[in-house]
Amino acid sequence: MTERLQTEELKGKTLPPGSVIGVLGGGQLGRMMALDGVRMGYRFVTLDPAPDSPLGQIAPQITAAYDDPEAAKELASRADVITYEFENVDAGVAALLEERSYVPQGSRLLYTTQHRLREKAAIEAAGVPVAPYRKIASLADLREAAAELKLPCVLKTVTGGYDGKGQAVLRREEQLEAAYAELSSNGVELVLEKFIAFSSEISVIAARTPSGEVKSFPPAENVHVNNILHLSIVPARIPAEVQRRACRLAEKVAEGLGAVGLLAVEMFLTEAGELYVNEVAPRPHNSGHYTMEACSTSQFEQHIRAVCNLPLSDTALLSPVVMVNILGQHLDEAVRRAAERDPLAESLGIVPKLHLYGKSVSKPGRKMGHINLLCGDVEDALEWVEQTNIWRP
Ligand code: AMP
Repeated sequence: MTERLQTEELKGKTLPPGSVIGVLGGGQLGRMMALDGVRMGYRFVTLDPAPDSPLGQIAPQITAAYDDPEAAKELASRADVITYEFENVDAGVAALLEERSYVPQGSRLLYTTQHRLREKAAIEAAGVPVAPYRKIASLADLREAAAELKLPCVLKTVTGGYDGKGQAVLRREEQLEAAYAELSSNGVELVLEKFIAFSSEISVIAARTPSGEVKSFPPAENVHVNNILHLSIVPARIPAEVQRRACRLAEKVAEGLGAVGLLAVEMFLTEAGELYVNEVAPRPHNSGHYTMEACSTSQFEQHIRAVCNLPLSDTALLSPVVMVNILGQHLDEAVRRAAERDPLAESLGIVPKLHLYGKSVSKPGRKMGHINLLCGDVEDALEWVEQTNIWRP
């Protein structure tokens, strides 16, 4: 009874500007959240193990391991509301924070999205299609599932994979044994998915408040290189009907999963116009960075609005845009170019907006920043990316 009363009281809890938002994780997503949140009048505090983290450069930081209970307690005592900027939050820490502070996103969604099988089951339960899949606990399971689903398939670890790590595309039966041995080596569970011959990969970022209001941003068409996001193209070059359907699916997933805050929903689109959800992330997402200048509200402001239970704001696209990621190997040239006049951008009618995350160590493959290319037509922005030669293979 008391517990129910408490949950009901919290359901509509509104955190007005002036409140302190505690962010678990001090990376670029937390930093961009704070850049918008500070403008709105909020204060921030972060917990991150690396001193001088991207968010720690602009807000007070508690420097300690994410699973340090004393540090988590300190974060709880200094913040009015807590959010996170990565999803692999330790379950014990999530429970501790929920006990001591207000965590409107809860830990249930983290529990679901940290595990591919739980995630797929929850998406299906929301009435949204995922690629056909089977749970794999042995090599015999894998052989049986591959025969049923028919190759090609993708074998993935159910936890811990990111940026294409922890997965293998299987095209021929001879590959099964070695892939199974490699991916199951540390005893993690696996899932086999049917390989979807997609014509494009898109993502939709939806936001949901504790009171149940839901809104989504226009779909982004995403291009990956070496399994890392390279470009987001908006509007996505797909029919308007598919765009509307993708937004509805993302909103349905956010509702079905009871998400609060942002939920990034990645999907495959096939030639036949079918959409399958690949995975979801309960946080701001790289493929939503385009919203920063191109939409009337950024994903970061929307996330803050959602966790603070303010009304969600308009998500209209104000300008076509291409977001291009700056990885370690692109950093020097991108910065050099940004420091000079850019006749190419001028001739193509493009306004490049540079965002750097303040990371002290640059490494190949590490996300150091991005550029939002505001344009009249996305093809012009793609031309700029091509002609600058910064991203040549
Ligand atoms: P993930 O770690 O699940 O996001 O997968 C990384 C990338 O692998 C995706 O962005 C796709 O390009 C590719 N991929 C993953 N699963 C599938 C699938 N079932 N069919 C086709 N491509 C996939």
